Amino acid sequence: MAKISINIKQGTLLKDETPQKDIIVGIDLGTTNSLVAYINSESGTAMAVKDEGGSNKLVPSIVHFHTEKEEIVVGNDAKEYLVAQPENTIYSVKRLMGKSFNDLKGHSEYFGYQVIDDDTESLAKIRVNDRFYTPIELSSLILKQLKYRVEKALNQTVTKAVITVPAYFNDAQRQATRDAGKLAGLEVLRIVNEPTAASLAYGIGLKQGEEKTIAVYDLGGGTFDISILSIDNGIFEVLSTNGDTFLGGDDFDRAIVDYWAAENEMDVAALKLNKQWMQTLRLQAEKAKMHLSKHEDFETTEGYMTLKLSRSKFEELVQPLVDRTLENCKRALADANLKIEAIDEVVLVGGSTRVPLVKQAVGEFFGRTPHDDLNPDEVVALGAAVQADILAGNQKDMLLIDITPLSLGIETMGGLMDVIIPRNSKLPIKAGRQYTTQKDGQSGMRITVYQGERDLVSDNRKLGEFSLKGIPAMPAGLPKVEITFILDADGITRVRAKELRSGVEQSIEVKPSYGLSEEEMSQMLLDSIQNAQSDMQARSLQEALNEANSMISSVENFVEKNGELLTEVEIQGTVERVNALKESLDSRNKDIIHQHIEALNDFTRPFAERVMDQAIAVAMKGKKI
Ligand code: AMP
Repeated sequence: MAKISINIKQGTLLKDETPQKDIIVGIDLGTTNSLVAYINSESGTAMAVKDEGGSNKLVPSIVHFHTEKEEIVVGNDAKEYLVAQPENTIYSVKRLMGKSFNDLKGHSEYFGYQVIDDDTESLAKIRVNDRFYTPIELSSLILKQLKYRVEKALNQTVTKAVITVPAYFNDAQRQATRDAGKLAGLEVLRIVNEPTAASLAYGIGLKQGEEKTIAVYDLGGGTFDISILSIDNGIFEVLSTNGDTFLGGDDFDRAIVDYWAAENEMDVAALKLNKQWMQTLRLQAEKAKMHLSKHEDFETTEGYMTLKLSRSKFEELVQPLVDRTLENCKRALADANLKIEAIDEVVLVGGSTRVPLVKQAVGEFFGRTPHDDLNPDEVVALGAAVQADILAGNQKDMLLIDITPLSLGIETMGGLMDVIIPRNSKLPIKAGRQYTTQKDGQSGMRITVYQGERDLVSDNRKLGEFSLKGIPAMPAGLPKVEITFILDADGITRVRAKELRSGVEQSIEVKPSYGLSEEEMSQMLLDSIQNAQSDMQARSLQEALNEANSMISSVENFVEKNGELLTEVEIQGTVERVNALKESLDSRNKDIIHQHIEALNDFTRPFAERVMDQAIAVAMKGKKI
């Protein structure tokens, strides 16, 4: 067990008693823009890092893949290609973090690039030319750019960071963010909630004995979040969150485009099909919106058109959107069981809160003037830098407590490590996750417990294993096996597996740090960073193999059961593609495997749907509903 320091006031952690010399940066990995900040050692204030030209602090969260040059560009350089090459230019990747395609159903036309539709629960991927990228890989490219930027600015290597995520991010999304950091060569010391960071940037929660309830209103480019936080003596707690994952400044821009289209008597349907025109108009709309935050009128020409907008017209266009955000605020208050009067402070975050109408509406709703002194684009990164500074030990009032030095988890399909308790978690702690069976009638499950930071369990340290037996016969996927890790204050881990439908249960006790020296722990951490790239490749290959195998067995199963409902051509075509997929496994190239999965999927989907419809029709026959 490693001894670490805790700030009594903030309830925050520090790794060593002696302050570290390394700089720890704060990163806001945003949907539209990202940025990196640090605490300037001379002034003691948080500063966002500008680009090499010294003008821009925001790095657009956009990655462009050059087709000819095989080059990848990130940020402003990538933004230029949004219009001309939308299929190779990836934006809003944060929306895909930790998401399966099923989670994104109905929203896929939102993306100008190809999100792979394999209609399963597996994680979404993005296809660019003939390669498949995970959202983690794409996010890591943005993080690498930020790392590069801050290293240039400070003229020193940066390997440690605090990264922020929305308060509503679940375990999988937080883990995906950590993985992206690791892949970019960053040790992610803490994942911090964005509203918590925003409050910290305003110094809220840093005073001793401070007890407050705060509303953080975050209206960005594509998303709206309202979070209600309580702060009690340095401990932040999220009381409720609400919002709309598809509402933001982009919708303001769209409202303007629609208005201009109507004013200029354009055919809206035709316009929507012309991606290039649409993007040009959208960029002009954004310009108009920004201009109107400071001025009363906007006017420009685009081709033969004159594009005009007054502030009052703009406000009329976006009022319904602003009203929707206030509805979300009402729901968040209701969920937190609070009346408006209970809110002590309101913090504005996100570029769209610069719109005067938004500021005014939020102020009127909460009955108090919101904090808006800091740049709303930077406030989350600045707060992350404050948190990073606390972790770096540049704060007093420290007390020793215990933390887990290495992550703990179990082995899942294909030898992958599934982390249940991330390293640096405060003790005691209890955490769990649900799993299921892979085969029909499977009655047992082997649980192998590992410790370490690598993606493949074979690179980590095995702590113990046990079997859960006596699961009643059920079809694959139906049993709910909950694996719970309980770490007590002495660092003893109890791992329990329980099948929730039947109540069958089994557990073991392991001692994670037994026989492991400080140097060995450091080595394990170092290895995980140095091998992040190859680990990630191994993980994505293994995930592709898992997906292919499960697809092969479900397709074979389907054809066996429904053969008489299929045509000869359909059966023949399926067999050919299944065989091609099987052969592709030997290539050990995840992109080739995904191409064959997609080909099989595209081929079988129409008749799979037809057979399902027939089955439903048969089942419904004679039944009254
Ligand atoms: P964020 O996601 O927080 O970076 O916010 C980006 C959004 O803020 C985009 O929709 C921008 O168009 C919008 N935005 C940036 N500056 C302004 C401004 N001066 N007035 C209105 N909206 C702005």
